[in-house]
Amino acid sequence: MTRTLDWQIATVKATRQETPNVKTLTLALPSWTPHRAGQHYDIRLTAEDGYSAQRSYSVASEPERAGVIDITVERIGEGEVSPFLDDIAVVGDRFEVRGPIGGYFVWDAASGGPLLLVAGGSGVVPLMAMLRHRAASRANVPARLLYSSRTFDDVIYRDELEVLAKDGVGVFHTLTRSQPAGWTGYTRRIDDRMLAEVAKPLGRNVLAFVCGPTALVETAADGLERAGLSADRIRTERFGPSGP
Ligand SMILES: Cc1cc2nc3c(=O)[nH]c(=O)nc-3n(C[C@H](O)[C@H](O)[C@H](O)COP(=O)(O)OP(=O)(O)OC[C@H]3O[C@@H](n4cnc5c(N)ncnc54)[C@H](O)[C@@H]3O)c2cc1C
Repeated sequence: MTRTLDWQIATVKATRQETPNVKTLTLALPSWTPHRAGQHYDIRLTAEDGYSAQRSYSVASEPERAGVIDITVERIGEGEVSPFLDDIAVVGDRFEVRGPIGGYFVWDAASGGPLLLVAGGSGVVPLMAMLRHRAASRANVPARLLYSSRTFDDVIYRDELEVLAKDGVGVFHTLTRSQPAGWTGYTRRIDDRMLAEVAKPLGRNVLAFVCGPTALVETAADGLERAGLSADRIRTERFGPSGP
């Protein structure tokens, strides 16, 4: 039996371009175990000369989807691992993975809510796993997502988020660099006023998950505390140095 910290060989089953810089890979795992929404896998790539590089990627799919996981990877220009996953990996490729990992930044339907999700860029990935799990488990928990992207074309899972919005999830976008004609969403970086507007209808007992670039995570977590949420109900995950 494979334990979560043993490496196993994943096979790329499908790929999907989400935005010009972001791709989803569906990976088949010989030792699949159900993850908790919000958990991640480590991916290790090894070159022919033996040099290897390892990075973490959140599971995007819901645990109800057995046998496979989706990861969604944003290409970082000078990066070692993300350009390989986005530009070079094709269906049939195999590489090492281990997981699922993490017990803090996780949400199960049984954890309840109301759920407030705040994301910047690819930080939406583990939050999407939570929304997909919420839908698949028919959890009736009120949920709102505040999602910051640079431009309309950079919004990951745009169509699926529209469907979720029709099914009762509150979806609020902010586009920080440019907006299409007729845009009615927010147009600035996440700030205290925006957080308070989105959080308020959910009440004080909200369970909040914040994920994205370090600066956004810190601003949003501090802002939610200033809006009256208790610190022990705010969970954060940092993906990298910069962002929208
Ligand atoms: C728990 C966890 C879950 C994660 N989940 C995801 C996920 O679902 N999707 C995803 O795309 N990434 C995710 N990341 C980030 C991922 O692990 C890598 O850090 C990222 O893909 C960059 O790796 P790289 O090898 O391409 O770049 P590196 O070779 O590590 O870095 C190259 C350069 O880019 C800078 N850099 C590194 N990361 C970022 C970043 N995020 N934004 C801007 N600049 C950066 C570095 O400082 C460096 O200067 C997650 C990170 C953690 C810790």
